Amino acid sequence: MLVFVLAIVLGFTLVITLIFYFSYENDEQSHLINQAEEAAARLDGLNPDNYIDYLDHQLDTNIRYTLVDPDGSVLFDSSISDVSELENHASRPEIADALEEGEGFVRRYSTTLNEDTIYAAVRLNDGSVIRVSERRASLLSYFGGLNFPVVIGVAVLFVLVYNLSRLVTRRIMRPIDALDFADPLENEIYTEMQPLLERIDEQQNRLKEQNEQLAKAQNIRRDFSANVSHEMKTPLQVISGYSELMKNGMVNEEDMTKFAGIIYSESQTMRSLINDVLLLSKLDESIFSEDDSILPTDMFEVGMRAKSRLSSLAEERQVSVDVKGVHGFVRGNETLLEQMALNLIENAIRYNHEGGHVIYTVSLSSAEKADGTEETSGPVDTQSPSEPENDKYPEVIVSVEDDGSGIPESKRDKIFERFYRLEKSRSKETGGTGLGLAIVKHTVTSHGGTIEVSGEEGHGSTFTVRFPGATEA
Ligand code: ADP
Repeated sequence: MLVFVLAIVLGFTLVITLIFYFSYENDEQSHLINQAEEAAARLDGLNPDNYIDYLDHQLDTNIRYTLVDPDGSVLFDSSISDVSELENHASRPEIADALEEGEGFVRRYSTTLNEDTIYAAVRLNDGSVIRVSERRASLLSYFGGLNFPVVIGVAVLFVLVYNLSRLVTRRIMRPIDALDFADPLENEIYTEMQPLLERIDEQQNRLKEQNEQLAKAQNIRRDFSANVSHEMKTPLQVISGYSELMKNGMVNEEDMTKFAGIIYSESQTMRSLINDVLLLSKLDESIFSEDDSILPTDMFEVGMRAKSRLSSLAEERQVSVDVKGVHGFVRGNETLLEQMALNLIENAIRYNHEGGHVIYTVSLSSAEKADGTEETSGPVDTQSPSEPENDKYPEVIVSVEDDGSGIPESKRDKIFERFYRLEKSRSKETGGTGLGLAIVKHTVTSHGGTIEVSGEEGHGSTFTVRFPGATEA
């Protein structure tokens, strides 16, 4: 502000000074010409013999009068007593002009002196020429004379502007310093600040949201840990209770195998609980080792493998398992996808009745069917796991249908929650952890898919999973 104001003031002063100087110079010029004409008029009214006498008695000593004979020799000069020493003036431009045209005017700039001289000459009736001249300050000395007042003015201005800009800055900053960032849009401030405040508000809202999400995640984690400890407690109590009895020799021979069996099945429960918890936390952190690479995975093959791994359970429960449909490929983690199929089929067997049926089906969403290339196996590209989703490939739909107990409509969302069980006793007695469907849902969403349950209560249920499709290559 200071530099700006000073530059403007100095520039302005320069321009104004120039304007004044030149208008003053003009005035001087016409004034001198007037004086020359006046003197000429006076002299013309006199007898030429009285010219010198008249001129000698002029009192205005600032003005120099010179009388020049028509031949150019100087007859009189008010500033020089012995005119005979002066050279002939006929060639002086103002004299030459006056001799020729009646009037002449000239300004001689002096580079050394700080003065200019201006001359005005008028021809008299008898042919001689009267010249008046005046010395005046040159532009340079005119400016020189201004130096001091300008320096004083600039100093005063400096102090003034300096203090004023401080004052103004402080005034402008006061409402900004007082801004309430807790509620940015509530501040009453310059409209120029509004976009900034809006951005701050936006950012704060985003931050708030993130904090809420973080708190929620923390809560879920805390609940989860509490649940895990709680779930561990029962089998541990059973195990330590029965083993204590056995240790103290309080169990007779025939009960021994039965108690050992109880201990075994409880430890199995703990084992699967630990496995599930570990898998879930791995999913939560989404850390998988290098060899858990993303591959196009054939969901039909996955179903076949899950079926064979569950064959003994199916046999024990007298439930048939069928794998049907096409070779649909899903880009993803094969181990997790197989775990998903395993959990869904296992549930369909466990929550079924003797003689029940389970059907695992793979299908493609559109008429555009996979063209049989899945039959030939070739090298698989693992380089680009995050290749943008290609709409060209049809969705892969995996459904697991059973004719078991079914799930009431109101509970269909809940069953995917961690540790949620419809019938606690039945789940436990069949070896459930309450985490299976939570793992399934996690796997499905992390593969970009969706899962839903349908069916009629009491007449079985169908779990339908939809994945974005991929080719074998
Ligand atoms: P669990 O280890 O108890 O099976 P899940 O998360 O796999 O835990 O399932 C949660 C609950 O959903 C189960 O306790 C059960 O009540 C219900 N459920 C899951 N699958 C089926 C199914 N196919 N038929 C009926 N109920 C089911």
